[in-house]
Amino acid sequence: MIISVASGKGGTGKTLVATSLALSLKDTYKVQLLDCDVEEPNDHIFLKPTIENVDRVFVLIPEVDNSKCTYCGKCAEVCAFNAIAVIKDRVLVFPELCHGCGACSYLCPEKAITEKGKEVGSVETGKADGISFGHGKLNVGEAMAPPIIRKVKEYIDPAAITIIDVSPGTSCPVVESIRDSDFCLLVTEPTPFGLNDLIVAVEVVRKLEIPCGVVLNRAGVGNSQVADYCLKEGLPLIRAIPLDTEIAKLYSKGIPLVEGIPEWKDSFTQLFQKIEAITNERISSTKR
Ligand code: SF4
Ligand code: SF4
Repeated sequence: MIISVASGKGGTGKTLVATSLALSLKDTYKVQLLDCDVEEPNDHIFLKPTIENVDRVFVLIPEVDNSKCTYCGKCAEVCAFNAIAVIKDRVLVFPELCHGCGACSYLCPEKAITEKGKEVGSVETGKADGISFGHGKLNVGEAMAPPIIRKVKEYIDPAAITIIDVSPGTSCPVVESIRDSDFCLLVTEPTPFGLNDLIVAVEVVRKLEIPCGVVLNRAGVGNSQVADYCLKEGLPLIRAIPLDTEIAKLYSKGIPLVEGIPEWKDSFTQLFQKIEAITNERISSTKR
């Protein structure tokens, strides 16, 4: 089973939920935690994994042979990302915009384009206290997160419960991370900002036809708008985590919640059981 942990905005407690869930299940199940928040992975701060393998990730960037190019402009026409432009007798490539899709080289009528690998980041994998661990790291100054996320996801073990920590927001890296998940946990907080970002995140997850549920972090502050929204939309509000200075202190020291306050283990195990019940119900209703 693949469970992605996402949030419409940063700082809502996504890492707290992903690491607590993994640590709560590891003694009962085969568990994998993959941190796909490649711009700022931080699950390793809590799990302290031993890294056993490092893969460098490359994107293929076009290189134009001016002696073959006729400046027909086809490459610029097919590029959906404006990463290549033809100006009179020059072809300009913008590597930071290029997604390495290969369309320009494939469609160049003169075969004037070759592709050259550019390193954009790396994927590290290893073990953390019985949990199979992996995370992606985007090189400083690079913008192409999806190729690294795809590489992290190559490590998904179908025999394990895979927890994917997704980057905040609702853009391409989020879609790439949660695609193929069996369930998406959306972590939010009871504030107008939390509600606003949750609404956008729910739209994305529903477009991808992935069942989802909400974890309300810092419950007790703000108002009831998030709970009201969940009720109105038929979204299961699976768990509330109260605003608690002890939880905040543990987090600031890099101590996982379920290690600092072991009573939380049961809550996260129950959270998983609710996810299992929702996904099982969905499977049986599609069979009917
Ligand atoms: S498609 Fe090929 S020939 Fe045409 S402008 Fe681009 S590189 Fe040059
Ligand atoms: S490889 Fe794809 S994204 Fe990059 S310049 Fe060519 S068409 Fe554009």
